[in-house]
Amino acid sequence: MTEAMDDDLVLDGNAVAGTLAEIYGDDMTTVLAQCASCGKVDHVGGLLAFIHAPGIVLRCTACATVMIRIVQTPKGTFVDVRGKRIPAPPKS
Ligand SMILES: [Zn+2]
Repeated sequence: MTEAMDDDLVLDGNAVAGTLAEIYGDDMTTVLAQCASCGKVDHVGGLLAFIHAPGIVLRCTACATVMIRIVQTPKGTFVDVRGKRIPAPPKS
């Protein structure tokens, strides 16, 4: 029984920055995302990342709701962002 192993499985969104950049064509780690469940706003790079699940899962740091799910298969990349709302940019 090693607790360290569990810790190893949980990273932050920066750990998947490369994958997100491949998908979005831009650095997503500084983009603000709002949890659709509890409303917490966090940078994508600050979300909890579980990269050893089938695919990549990014969860809210407050309530652990799944915010972004990424599955890469030989047929293509599937991104599920149902748990996440990106706030409108501030009006200038
Ligand atoms: Zn939340």
